[in-house]
Amino acid sequence: MQGLMQDWPLTVDKILDHAKAWHGGREIVSRSVEGPIVRTTYAEIHERAKRVSNALLGLGILPGDRVATLAWNTGRHIEAWYGIMGMGAVCHTLNPRLFAEQLVYIINHADDRIIITDLTFVPVLASIRDQIPGVKHIIVLSDEAHLDGSLPGALAYETLVENASADISWGGFDENTAAGLCYTSGTTGNPKGVLYSHRSNFLHTLVTMGSDVLGIKATDTVLPVVPMFHANAWGLTFSAPAVGAKLVMPGPKLDGASVHELLETEGVTFSAAVPTVWQMLLTHLRTSKGTLSTLKRVVIGGSAVPEAIVRGFRDEYGVDVTHAWGMTETSPLGTQATPNYAISQMDAEQQLQFKLKQGRAPLGIELKLVDDDDKPLPHDGTTFGRLKVAGPFVVGEYFRAEGGKILDQDGFFDTGDVATLDEHGVMQITDRAKDVIKSGGEWISSIEIENIAAGHPKAELAAVIGVVHPKWDERPLLLVKLKTGEAATKDEFLQFLDGKIAKWWMPDDVVFVDEIPLGATGKIDKKLIRERMKDYVLPPAAGVASGAVALAAPPEPKIYAPEPEPEPVVEPGHEDDAWLHWTPDAAQSVDRSRREAPAAPADHVEAPADAQLPFRGR
Ligand code: ADP
Repeated sequence: MQGLMQDWPLTVDKILDHAKAWHGGREIVSRSVEGPIVRTTYAEIHERAKRVSNALLGLGILPGDRVATLAWNTGRHIEAWYGIMGMGAVCHTLNPRLFAEQLVYIINHADDRIIITDLTFVPVLASIRDQIPGVKHIIVLSDEAHLDGSLPGALAYETLVENASADISWGGFDENTAAGLCYTSGTTGNPKGVLYSHRSNFLHTLVTMGSDVLGIKATDTVLPVVPMFHANAWGLTFSAPAVGAKLVMPGPKLDGASVHELLETEGVTFSAAVPTVWQMLLTHLRTSKGTLSTLKRVVIGGSAVPEAIVRGFRDEYGVDVTHAWGMTETSPLGTQATPNYAISQMDAEQQLQFKLKQGRAPLGIELKLVDDDDKPLPHDGTTFGRLKVAGPFVVGEYFRAEGGKILDQDGFFDTGDVATLDEHGVMQITDRAKDVIKSGGEWISSIEIENIAAGHPKAELAAVIGVVHPKWDERPLLLVKLKTGEAATKDEFLQFLDGKIAKWWMPDDVVFVDEIPLGATGKIDKKLIRERMKDYVLPPAAGVASGAVALAAPPEPKIYAPEPEPEPVVEPGHEDDAWLHWTPDAAQSVDRSRREAPAAPADHVEAPADAQLPFRGR
C-alpha cells in the first residue's frame, strides 16, 4: 500500500525559493574579485539566478548539459549555481588549484558546454582555450569594463544578467535529476566525477541542518571559507539559505588577516574550513593580538584537526570546534564529532579526546568497519579497518567511469580510509589505506604520528610516510618543516613523541625539509612526497626504533628544494599564505616544478623524472 502524502520533488531550487519567500531581506555579503565588498539579499540573488537560467537557455543550454564554474565563493557564484541547477542543467564546480592539464582533462571528460569564471582565472582559461573545444562560451563574472580582450569571445556576466528575463519556472523535473558534478582532486589518483542529484543534495541539506551536525540557524551569520569548488562548500550554500542565515562570502582572499577582518566586520557566528586555514587565522590572531568577538563555532574537516587548534580556539578565543569527516563522494559530510549523551557527561579533557576523533554518523549515513576479507571488525576503538559507507547522499558510481561498479555486495562504498570505531560509535580515521605503514605485519597510523609531531612548538608542518625496511617491510619516516627561524634536532622530535605513541611506532628517522607539499585541496600530498623520497634510505642504525637515536646537532641536510612560491598576489604580512592565493602564474610555476626536477644542490635528492605526471592511479 502506498502512502497518501503529496508528491513534492526534492529539488534544490526550492531551497532558494524558500529563502526568498521567508528570508528575502537576509544579506549575502561578498568580497568581490574586483575588490569592493558587495551586499545583496536572498531575494535579489533569487531574481538574478532566474535571469542566469534564461541567459543559459539563450546560449543553447538544455537540461542535463554541464555548465562549469571556476570561481571563488561570492554571491555571483551562488546565483550561477542556482541558475544552472534550477533549470535542470548540471553545475560542474572546477577546482582552480588543479594544474592546467587536470583542468583540461576534467572539462573534456565532463563535456562542459559553458564555463562561468572569475576574472582571476581568465589567463588560465586563455592558455587552455584551444584544448577544450567542447566549451561553446566562457562567461566572466564581471561587467564589460573588466574584460580585457585576453579571452576572445568571452561574455560579461553582468550584461547577460541585465538583458535576460527573470521569468522562468524552475524545477518540475524528477528529484533524481543530476544537479551538480564535482571531481575528486586527484591527490589520490585520477580525478573521478561525483554526480550529485537534486534529491541527494536536498537530503544532505536536511541532515546537515540537524543540531548535532552543522546546526546552523536563522540567527547565524555563516562564513564558508571552504570553497564551493571543493565538495560544495560542505553544503553551506544550500543549508544557509535553507535556514535563512546571513552568508558572508570571502571571495579570493583566504589568508588569516582577510578572514579575520570579515569575521569581525560582519559579525560572523559560524564558519567552516580545512585545518590549514584555521592555523593561519590563529597565527594571525596571536601576532596581531586580534580578538574574535562574535564567532561561536567552527567546523574543521578535510584532514585531521590538530589538538593545538582545538585548544587554541577554545582556551584563547572561546570558540567551539567541531571536527568533521567526509569526502567528495559523501556530498561531503559523513561524520561530526558532536558528543552523544554519555560523552557530554564527561569532563572537558575527556570530551576533548572525542572531539579530536572524526565523529559519529548522522541519520542518513551508515558506516561499517571491515578487514581485507570484508569481515566486520569490533567497535573497540583500537582495531583498525577499512571504512565503508552507504546512504542516500553517498556516491553510487562515478560519472562516465570505466568499470562501473564501485559498491560492495551490500551497497557500501569503500572510502579508502582506515579507521577505528569505539563503543560510542565515534569513528577515528587512522590513515588512508594507501598511506598506512605496514610494519612487521602490523599497521602504523601515519596520521596519528604526524598530528602529534605537528604539535611540537617548533614544527610548522609534519608528514609521515612508510619507507622500505629489509626486516620489517616498512618503517615510519617523519618529515618536519620547521617554523621560520627555528632549528631542531631529530632527538627533540623523537623525545617529543616518546610516551605519546607505542615504542614500535617511533619513526626510524626524522628529516627536516624546506617544504611539505600540499595538494589542490590543501592536504599533504603524500604521493608527491613518496615520489621525491623514493631514493631515500634509512640510516644504518635504524631498526625497530628504540626512540633514542643519537643525533648530530643542526643544521640537518635539506632533502629537496622547495617548490617555487607563487609571487605576485601575496600581500605584505601574508607571505605564509601564498599557497591559498592562486594565480595562473603560480600554477604555471608549480606546474613547471613538477615537470622538471628543480635545480638542486649536490646533497639534495632530485625529484624523479615521472613526478610531473598530473595524476597516477591509486
Ligand atoms: P581528495 O582529497 O582525494 O580529492 P576529498 O577532498 O573528498 O578527496 O577528501 C576526502 C578524504 O579526506 C577522506 O577520504 C579522508 O581521507 C580525508 N579527510 C576528510 N576529512 C578528514 C578528517 N576530518 N580527518 C582526517 N581525514 C579527513
